[in-house]
Amino acid sequence: MSKKGISMKTAFSRLARAVGIWRKYDPQQLNALLLSRLFTKLTPYATVFLSARIINALVTGVEAREVWRLIGITLGVTTLFAVISAILNRWYEARKDGNWITTSKVIADKHAAMDFVDADSQHVADLTAQIQQNDNWGGRGLSRIPRLLEELLDGAFSMLGGIVLSVELFILPIPSGSLRFLNNPLFAICILAVMLTVALASGQLVGVANAAWENYASDARLGNRMFGAYGFFATRLKRAVDIRIYRQERISKFYMGKGDVFTENSPLATEYRGKLGLCVAASKGIGAVMSGIIYLFVCVKAWAGAFPIGSATQYIGAITGVFMGLNGLIVAFENVRANGVFLSNTFEYLDIPNSMYQGSLTTEKRSDRQYEVEFRNVSFKYPGSEAYALKNVNIKFKVGSRLAVVGMNGSGKTTFIKLLCRLYDPTEGEILLNGIDIRKYRYDDYRDIFSIVFQDFQLFAMPLGENVAVSASYDREDVADCLEKAGFSERLSTMPKGLDTVLYKTLDKDGVEVSGGEAQKIAIARAIYKNAPFIILDEPTAALDPVAEAEIYEKFNDIAGDKTAIYISHRLSSCRFCDEILVFDHGQIVQSGSHEELVHQEAGKYYALWNAQAQYYAVNG
Ligand code: ADP
Repeated sequence: MSKKGISMKTAFSRLARAVGIWRKYDPQQLNALLLSRLFTKLTPYATVFLSARIINALVTGVEAREVWRLIGITLGVTTLFAVISAILNRWYEARKDGNWITTSKVIADKHAAMDFVDADSQHVADLTAQIQQNDNWGGRGLSRIPRLLEELLDGAFSMLGGIVLSVELFILPIPSGSLRFLNNPLFAICILAVMLTVALASGQLVGVANAAWENYASDARLGNRMFGAYGFFATRLKRAVDIRIYRQERISKFYMGKGDVFTENSPLATEYRGKLGLCVAASKGIGAVMSGIIYLFVCVKAWAGAFPIGSATQYIGAITGVFMGLNGLIVAFENVRANGVFLSNTFEYLDIPNSMYQGSLTTEKRSDRQYEVEFRNVSFKYPGSEAYALKNVNIKFKVGSRLAVVGMNGSGKTTFIKLLCRLYDPTEGEILLNGIDIRKYRYDDYRDIFSIVFQDFQLFAMPLGENVAVSASYDREDVADCLEKAGFSERLSTMPKGLDTVLYKTLDKDGVEVSGGEAQKIAIARAIYKNAPFIILDEPTAALDPVAEAEIYEKFNDIAGDKTAIYISHRLSSCRFCDEILVFDHGQIVQSGSHEELVHQEAGKYYALWNAQAQYYAVNG
């Protein structure tokens, strides 16, 4: 049960940075938070102050009219404050409802903006998993910030209001009698010192409890990870068949048992039943003792005639408020420190630099689409890998050409495309667009010239039309036309809501499940809709049978029109019509030429691949 972590200074500088992020993403929430906490904390003081005036008026025997006037003011002010607080709280709560969207947007924005090489790294996968798990583990990290500010502001406003209303308690003297020694300023200082000590002790105890949370955070991360992977394992439709055949539900039970950090037998729960529970209870208990001391001091002074009884109620309320505020503030400081520990993952993630060179040239939206790409001695190793995924690739191709990239699995075809669209930079050599190194172009501009359908493309649980346009507003005719070109029009005609049909049942009970082949057609329509000068199909047709694949590829020849089309396939028959075929083997282009040229080179790789496949497809080569 050790107390560890970071210094308060570090914690507050992290808090300041996190508040800056919130201010950028949701400035309104911070305004709402500030005003709602101000009114919520000052409202009870207004009531305390005004009711004290009424009681004083009653005990000093003023006229009834004056009492009624005071009651009227009290009712009016209290009601007004209550209404304003309620409105402000509603505003704040409403903004707070979107907090999980804000925090995930911060993470998602960074992910989209970082270099792909980092987005694709294990380090980033681990960091994002940790950030997510910190959030699951008691809402630690960025999502905690509004709550911490609430705690800090509540403490500060409580203290300030209480101080204003209780100053007189220490100033007004007892006029006569044996209790006059209480007028000594030292006495007031003693009371304040005790108050501060108790509040600090209470904060320390909370700190101990927080430290226990930090200590078990890594266990909890593992538990959350396991729960994420196996918690709903048995309900996933994709697993339903395997579960029945291989009785995989047993796996879920096996792992869940190991991630036992959330049950009553977990180490944290055990600590809470012992010393830790006592700490939390003691922190509450000493608060109650402090209230007793305050009551005693105020009552004795009132009894000795320092002020009327109404003021006594005000001072008790106010000084209790000061104590509660101070206590709250110290606990809030501890919570800021504890949360600061968890923010380190978030900041490490947000601070990942973009180290890919960013050029400033535009790719000129050329109406003649005259683009020429050249790979000049390009070699590439994936980060952390010793082996070359591409080695000395030299190739030049012009716009409008049809290029096929063929080769065995793992021969470097996809890597070639990833380098072409600058998801990675070459380890050696350079890629040129119209004679200029692609690094010198603005990246946003450069990637706009490519439409790619990757093998593992993803569609969204959104309406069909929006999937194709990747936008909520789009030209319906254009989208329908692209779907038709992709061979989807027949299926579209059977969809009850046409382009507005939601794909998948994930978010809509009327959603439509599409088959692998249909999904591929939609993905192809999306690529056509983007209307970029380069259109690339990276084995997106793997789920189709060879005949259907050949149909799509041949049809695609027409669709591609004046665009440069690059086809990747391990089925050679689909690529026969291409102007040029690049044959990849172990990261190198071992042959290039047209089908007719290659198919007759008996010593070549293409010949071997072609004949191996021809047996299965009975293609007429
Ligand atoms: P293909 O598309 O021809 O099947 P790839 O371009 O995907 O081949 O892969 C080429 C080589 O690079 C393979 O040896 C593969 O294992 C390796 N590779 C692919 N992706 C990665 C990655 N993200 N990290 C490390 N190695 C990779």
